[in-house]
Amino acid sequence: MSSKIQSISQLRALLDEKKTSAVELAQDALRQAGQQSRLNAFVDIRDDLTLQQAKAADARLAAGETGALLGIPTAHKDIFVTQGWTSTAGSKMLAGYQSPFDAEVVSRLNAAGTVSIGKLNCDEFAMGSSNEKSAYGPCLNPWDTLAVPGGSSGGSAVAVAAGVVPFTTGTDTGGSIRQPASLCGITGIKPTYGSCSRYGMIAYASSLDQAGPMAHSARDCALVLNAMVGFDAKDSTSVQRPVSNEDFTAGFGKPLRTGDVAKPLAGVRVGLPAEFFGEGLTTDVRAPVDAALKQLETLGATLVNISLPRTELSIPAYYVIAPAEASSNLSRFDGVRYGHRAAEYSDLKSMYENSRSEGFGLEVQRRIMVGAYVLSHGYYDAYYLQAQKIRRLIAQDFQAAFQQCDFIAGPVSPTVAWNLGEKSADPVQMYLADIYTLSTSLAGLPGMSVPVGFGDKNRPVGMQLIGNYFKEGEMLALADHYQAATDWHLYTPS
Ligand code: GLN
Repeated sequence: MSSKIQSISQLRALLDEKKTSAVELAQDALRQAGQQSRLNAFVDIRDDLTLQQAKAADARLAAGETGALLGIPTAHKDIFVTQGWTSTAGSKMLAGYQSPFDAEVVSRLNAAGTVSIGKLNCDEFAMGSSNEKSAYGPCLNPWDTLAVPGGSSGGSAVAVAAGVVPFTTGTDTGGSIRQPASLCGITGIKPTYGSCSRYGMIAYASSLDQAGPMAHSARDCALVLNAMVGFDAKDSTSVQRPVSNEDFTAGFGKPLRTGDVAKPLAGVRVGLPAEFFGEGLTTDVRAPVDAALKQLETLGATLVNISLPRTELSIPAYYVIAPAEASSNLSRFDGVRYGHRAAEYSDLKSMYENSRSEGFGLEVQRRIMVGAYVLSHGYYDAYYLQAQKIRRLIAQDFQAAFQQCDFIAGPVSPTVAWNLGEKSADPVQMYLADIYTLSTSLAGLPGMSVPVGFGDKNRPVGMQLIGNYFKEGEMLALADHYQAATDWHLYTPS
């Protein structure tokens, strides 16, 4: 492994000092994407569209415009619809689909002057934890190409970890930003539900889906988040807050609570849920997480033991609620209103059947069936309603925990990245890997992953931080203090 990353701020300096141009950075990223094509991170690349955006950014720079992201290369998860590039959600159902508009998050980043290199591989309709469930084939982990990169935002994590672009967009419904960030050794944050508009994000489970940035550092994530968040009337669950234009870097470099610069985390209580450190957590993940917690203590934080008693229930609750919403959201892909239509059928019913069986992969079909089942008459009360009640209790557990601490910390994933194929035959094994990320999503809380070292086979390990609603600014500042004292986020695969 080596340690030379290019951060957004470094690229910013090069652009502002005219040592490079947006076109040069874009060409370099396109070249990198081509050289690393074996990783299968990208599903659509169009040099002409990229160069068009880069030239526009250079023109804005030449006109004297400034901005943290102006001219910075990026790429978008294939869950976001984009004009020009295809938008397929990693599914054959939407093969070749051209959106007539951009997702709101993409529009905001375009307005900030970012330059897109293309669309990033992901699990089909964001369903998965390994990026093996994409119609475009699996994406490989650049640290070890035998390993999965995590999912569903696997391509988004790989493009950053492999050094193609300094940041990407991802979406997190039950962990899909935090878990691939952890498994690929980068930083990623899922903000509070409702912070980033879901307009133009192909829906999986609407009450959980949330967009966020993936980058090397907390600082870069904060710069990108500044551009991504904001009220959007086109999304009925978008949050309208009194503070618009929050600067997520505002607290960086300052002590969080006291004036003590030597101990910038003094007065900050970090809660360690017993349920995140129990059976199932492998020792090679636990050791770097423990070391990171020690580092937080050195920086002044107080570690407190807490409990999130319903952690185990987050798996059944999530895997009832998310498929229920998915079965409803995906009903529009029927070969008539949207999506692939089978070439052969004999009547209306077989047209639906053939179109949906050909267009959707097996995992998506499984979830549609589970979802339709738990919502059906007679089972709704037993499964869906019950899961919703558990969801509420899980959210209440977090509020009880936040009486005792300011942030919660633990692992993101019970193991380092597993080998390709290792869990793909057994969906339940795959679901169990989400144990530490699902509860945050069910509660709608912000969570992030910060690289803290390496475990088995030298594969990366991430620490998860969870904050209360709208505490992402402070959470990012805490992560930045950790990253100022350590260099795990600077390592890149050789
Ligand atoms: N692994 C989880 C699932 O398959 C989470 C996916 C996500 O966050 N998009 O549903």
